[in-house]
Amino acid sequence: MATLSVKRLSAEEEYPDLSQHNNHMAKVLSLDVFKTIRDRTTPNGFTIDGVIQTGVDNPGHPFIMTVGCVAGDEETYDVFKELLDPIIEDRHGGYKPTDKHKTDLNPENLKDGDDLDPNYVLSCRVRTGRSIRGFCLPPHCSRGERRAVETLSIEALSSLDGDLKGKYYALKNMTDEEQQQLIDDHFLFDKPVSPLLLSAGMARDWPDGRGIWHNDNKTFLVWVNEEDHLRVISMQTGGNMREVFNRFCTGLTKIEALFKQKGCPFMWNEHLGYVLTCPSNLGTGLRGGVHVKLPNLSKHDKFEEVLKRLRLQKRGTGGVDTAAVGGTFDISNADRLGFSEVELVQMVVDGVKLMVDMEKSLEKGRSINDLMPAQK
Ligand code: ADP
Ligand code: MG
Repeated sequence: MATLSVKRLSAEEEYPDLSQHNNHMAKVLSLDVFKTIRDRTTPNGFTIDGVIQTGVDNPGHPFIMTVGCVAGDEETYDVFKELLDPIIEDRHGGYKPTDKHKTDLNPENLKDGDDLDPNYVLSCRVRTGRSIRGFCLPPHCSRGERRAVETLSIEALSSLDGDLKGKYYALKNMTDEEQQQLIDDHFLFDKPVSPLLLSAGMARDWPDGRGIWHNDNKTFLVWVNEEDHLRVISMQTGGNMREVFNRFCTGLTKIEALFKQKGCPFMWNEHLGYVLTCPSNLGTGLRGGVHVKLPNLSKHDKFEEVLKRLRLQKRGTGGVDTAAVGGTFDISNADRLGFSEVELVQMVVDGVKLMVDMEKSLEKGRSINDLMPAQK
């Protein structure tokens, strides 16, 4: 990182050219903010260049408004708060530095959600990330730290039993075909092809220390050392989001207890909730979504407006870097912070139900004007 050299050259000489940029970081990082924070490092030696590199190298993204920065350790959010607080406020709907985050992982508090129409909803999925306190995050961790996170995870996850009993598969022990099959079946993270990931330093040493743990029927999965230390995922085909969320809460709560027993709590605080690599994932880190067929609604000129009002986001079904094909989309909650897990999944359940109703109306050649939701 450039700590030493930035001290020799002036802030003007080091300031990145953000004139063509459209991401949250570029909106906030004025020369003045840069001057204020550029000489700082976290206790682990993470610098402003590490924070912003991904957003400097990637001016924008074709499908989503990116954040344009990452954390290298738990302290990043505090050390660089003049940059990160406004980004968090901008990305998370006005969330203030004094605001407190709420957690609700009790699946009983979710209403309905077991009956999304399977003729439209092909699959349901809920995921989150978790970081292990005391280790640097993937943009900044050392090779040894990454391996230690992997070892800890294998030990902790091996205690899961019943439906959740599973096995760990290290990426480096997989054949290329096995890996590709897991990716094609939507179970495994992509190869490190995303420029966002590459510029953030998260592909260093790939595939060392990376892998996937899953139960026998691949309905409960944990990714190790991709963008976060852990990504915990519950998924299944069909329209029963309630069952998926149930398994998600049960499994996640067990995992948290197992890591605590090993003396390794997750990074968490009252303000940011669960602390993750990308500021867009703070709070719950939760993305609950469905793959859903919306060939008519997605061509309608109110589609974007409907999504916005329901606080939902669209992606292609191959992941964040893909465009939708054939009218099938990944529809998920847009928020992470300031809402509880239950509230976010409820938005997805209610919103997707409404969108499917709209799709059915359009199929019959009817208007959707009377179905337009209010802004949530
Ligand atoms: P995230 O990083 O939020 O977990 P990505 O958009 O990077 O999600 O996608 C990761 C993988 O998960 C992709 O293979 C994607 O197809 C799969 N996926 C996401 N949502 C669903 C869903 N509802 N059903 C099946 N697979 C899904
Ligand atoms: Mg991803």
